[in-house]
Order: sequence, then C-alpha cells, then structure tokens
Amino acid sequence: MNREDFPILSQQVHNRALVYLDNAATTQKPQVVIDAIAEAYSHWNANVHRGVHHLSQVATQKHEEAREKVAQLIHAQSSEEIIFTKGTTDSLNMLARSFGDAMLHEGDEIIVSQLEHHSNIVPWQMLCERKKATLRVIPLREDLSLDTEAFKGLLSDKTRLVSVAHVSNVLGIVNPIEEIIRLAHEKGVPVCVDGAQSVPHLVMDVQQLDCDFLVFSAHKMYGPTGLGILYGKKEWLDQLPPAEGGGEMIEHVSFEKTTYNVLPYKFEAGTPNYVGSHAFGKAIDYVQEIGLEQIAEHEHELAKYLEAQLALLPNLRVYAAGLPKAGAVSFNVYREDGVLIHPFDVGVLLDRQGVAVRTGHHCAEPLIEYLQVPGTVRASVALYNTPEDIDAFIAALKKAIMMLQ
Ligand code: PMP
Repeated sequence: MNREDFPILSQQVHNRALVYLDNAATTQKPQVVIDAIAEAYSHWNANVHRGVHHLSQVATQKHEEAREKVAQLIHAQSSEEIIFTKGTTDSLNMLARSFGDAMLHEGDEIIVSQLEHHSNIVPWQMLCERKKATLRVIPLREDLSLDTEAFKGLLSDKTRLVSVAHVSNVLGIVNPIEEIIRLAHEKGVPVCVDGAQSVPHLVMDVQQLDCDFLVFSAHKMYGPTGLGILYGKKEWLDQLPPAEGGGEMIEHVSFEKTTYNVLPYKFEAGTPNYVGSHAFGKAIDYVQEIGLEQIAEHEHELAKYLEAQLALLPNLRVYAAGLPKAGAVSFNVYREDGVLIHPFDVGVLLDRQGVAVRTGHHCAEPLIEYLQVPGTVRASVALYNTPEDIDAFIAALKKAIMMLQ
C-alpha cells in the first residue's frame, strides 16, 4: 500500500532491503509530509496569531486548518477541544498538572493499568506525590487482558480520574476501553484515553467513545516529531486551569491580575509548532485519501499474519496470543534447552539482516516485570508494510534463532 510514497523505505541497511517493523516507536513520513515542512520554511514561515502582516496570516490560517483536520480525524465536536502539545508525553503531563491542580486533593485516587507506558504512569505518580493522593492499578488476567472485574472494585468515591491505554504499546492488544469508560462514568469518574497506539490504527470517534480526554502523537501517524494532541471535552477544558503560563495563553496581563485566553489557546503557552501542525495536517489528508478503514483492515490482516507465522516457530512465546491486536506483536524466543534468548541479541541479529524491530522494556517496565522477562522483541506494522515484509522478517528470525542456539 503506497510504499513508494515513503522515500526512506527504499534504502538498504547492511546491504539488505530495509524491512521496517518498528512503527509503534515511530512511523516513516510520506513525501507530502516532508515537502510540507520544506514548503512552510521556504514560503510562509512567520509567527502565528496577532500578526497583521501577510505571512503571519498565512501561517495562522494553515495552523488553524490543521487543528480542524485533527478535530475531524477524531470526530471531536469542535476544534476548540484540540490542544497542540509536543507529544503524548507532554499531553499527559499537561493534563496531570492542570487536572491535578484543580481536581485532586489529599486522599483522592487515580487509576491506571498494569500495562501502561511510563508516560501514562509517571506524571500521575508525580501528581499523587504532590497531592498526597494514591495511584491504583488495574491488574491483568492470565491472558494479559485488563481485569475489568477488578477495575469495578477499584472504582470508589475517592476516584478522580482513570487513565488507560486504548492499545498496549508492548502487547498490541486493544483494551476494552468502551467498557472502562462506561464503568467509570457510572461512578461519575472521567476517563483519559492514551491513544498513542490506537489513533494510528483504528478509526477514532471521541464522541461515540465518550472519553473525556484523548492524547496521541503525530509522529506515530506519519506526521512530524515534536507534535502531539490533547483532546478534552469542552466542558472539562472550560473548568480546568492552564498548565503553563506565557505568551499566547493570556487575554490580558498585569502585575495585579492576568486573565486567560479562550479555548484552546488557554492551554497553548508560547509559540506553537505551526510547521509541525501543518505537516501533520498533510499526514491526515494522506491517510484519509487512502481511507482510515482500509488502513485499519490492512494492518489488522498483517498483524494477524505476523502472529500466525510466529506461532509456527518452535520455542517461541507470543504474548497475549489470540487477543485482538492493532499493529504490534511482542514475543520472546527460547533455546532448545529452555533458556530465554535475550531479546537484545535477537534484535541485533535481525538488524544485521536489514530488519528493524524494537527490543527491551518498551517504556513499560511494570508490565515487563509482571511478565518476568528482561524485555520482549516487538514487531509493529504500518500502512506501507506488506506480507513480503513479514516473510522477510520470519526468514531473518529463523536464521537469528539458529545462530543463537
Ligand atoms: N503512550 C503509549 C501507549 C506509547 O506507545 C507512547 C510512545 N511509545 C507514549 C505514550 C509516549 O509517546 P511520545 O514519546 O510520542 O510522547
């Protein structure tokens, strides 16, 4: 699917055609996105908002058009609900600061899950330390799915927020996020969805999902680095204080009293990444031209094929085998004598054959500790991957396993 649109993919690595299966870490960029960045700096670069001159007005218009595109992508009610940040991590830190300042008090509780990325653990942990609140953790069932029964037991009148990944960046599994939102809402508790791994792979509708907040990164969806999104329902964003102070986020400043700008600017202190937002807008146009549902279907088929091929190999454990996945599959291989082959060694030998995968703890140490392994090997797909990529990966993996016996 449109592989030739991605110039980086046509190169050789270690004299082998590159097979890029590290898409959960970051995706490659199509030429239209690369061109959009060059176009911005070549033709209309100027600081946005309040500029009376032509270039500033063009830059402002492009930046705000991109915001509209993001709103449409996730089916937000209004572009006022779309805040540009530096990435998922920044979005979560901003939310923890803003929501925490306004809503969290001593003795309150926040719920995350066992399989979260560090970005969806540490900001909440830091907040709980500041506020003398408690972080609660949804455990996993034996098959590594979230234990929603246990979650019901964790929800209480002390719970102020639930923040859970839609898709696990390690296991690739799609969490029962609708159920989590429904159960939390029954208790009047808002839910933040970490969509870093779901927005690129699933059709996202925040109104249908009814999540209160959604965070994701542009770079995992064919867009530039350094740009992310914090979506919040307007009724929440209206109530919450700004997380950062500075230019852009104010209405009027005096030493006696500063008043804040309207949404979404209240949350966007400083010069925004308008070149990044423009380039992300082009990435959104690109995926929409192919069709989000077609991309989701293609990736689903690839991930299923990948898991099926891995399952044929002896002495290999696929994590969360058989559970519905989007984009990523994690596994470990064992020697014939039962000793685990370190995932790092597998990754290095795959790299020598031109195959890029990720190995290690994937910024999810609590999950890796729970699995009682030093890490996993993770292969993750994107729209430009093909069944031939999977075949090349499996052939390289077989060789690597043979060498590591
Ligand atoms: N959450 C999840 C589920 C992720 O996969 C990632 C990126 N690996 C993040 C958060 C953090 O994203 P970023 O590094 O773009 O801020």
